[in-house]
Amino acid sequence: MPAAEFALIARHFASAACAAPGDALVLGIGDDCAVLDIAHGQQLVVSTDTLNQGVHFPLDADPYALAWRALGCTLSDLAAMGARPLGFTLALSLPQADDAWLSAFAKGLNEAALRYRVRLVGGDTTRGALSINLTVLGRVPQGLALRRRGAQMGDLLCVGGVLGQAAAALPWVLGERTDTAAAAALLKRYWQPEPQIALGRALRGRASSVIDISDGLLADCGHLAHASGVTLEIDAARVPVDPLAQALHGSEAALAYALRGGDDYRLAFTLPKRCLEGLQAEGFAVQVVGRVLAGTAAVALIHHGERQWVQGGGYEHFAQGQHD
Ligand code: ADP
Ligand code: MG
Repeated sequence: MPAAEFALIARHFASAACAAPGDALVLGIGDDCAVLDIAHGQQLVVSTDTLNQGVHFPLDADPYALAWRALGCTLSDLAAMGARPLGFTLALSLPQADDAWLSAFAKGLNEAALRYRVRLVGGDTTRGALSINLTVLGRVPQGLALRRRGAQMGDLLCVGGVLGQAAAALPWVLGERTDTAAAAALLKRYWQPEPQIALGRALRGRASSVIDISDGLLADCGHLAHASGVTLEIDAARVPVDPLAQALHGSEAALAYALRGGDDYRLAFTLPKRCLEGLQAEGFAVQVVGRVLAGTAAVALIHHGERQWVQGGGYEHFAQGQHD
């Protein structure tokens, strides 16, 4: 590796507060591999995500926000497994070494990493079209990782908070609307998603199946239903919708964002009824949005008193009706 690249890594990443050894990280950036401690009786949980310029984010995306968002989204996968974050690697492809861009990127990354107590343990830096790959490492007590499979008939279907905020911010993210002050709270949800790490850990030994909502409540419930071989019934009237999204887009559009919009990074999970009270008493903003029914891998939506089966494009049709 050329000296310039070592200098780049040293300046922007190795010196970041989040890259300092400590907690589980014994040996960090600078050797051939990182070394982490895994306590006896724990299992390692791993997930990776790649974001490519022009595909996953616009060409002019703010590097600070981009880094924050990339780490937040990737950590959400650990949350969905009930894992505690340990560390992450960063594989970065850059068209050129732009110091201002890298400083802002490293700042966002460091702030998100400190917020979620996860260490930058290593990575790779190459020249190429801008691309960001993050691999996150976490741990769970042996056998307690949460899964998509396991929903039981009679369980409640729950979500970890308000939905549709990030999707409601898209017109501003894409520059179609420019009155950004009006949508600031929604834009924050888009650029700084909050992976529900604490909720995920609280669901260990309680939830029967869990997923993080990245593609929209209906689509991700489809994954839960499929993995568990059950039907999930969602009551649209119980889906928590953001008041600002309602004010800016109208109630039906805000509901459509909550049901179909992506990028929420809240957890959706099925829960035996007896576990609900305890979770709420612990302060988690858990909302019941439906229930688990016997049957095949399917999602049903109750809306305006009618039950509608949700299958791929089927809901598109319904959504158009709502906008008319
Ligand atoms: P190797 O030749 O063994 O692959 P590199 O020269 O690519 O090692 O990297 C040197 C050190 O810097 C390694 O510890 C690696 O993990 C770390 N590193 C490289 N790029 C990054 C990055 N973008 N972020 C964090 N650590 C990095
Ligand atoms: Mg390398």
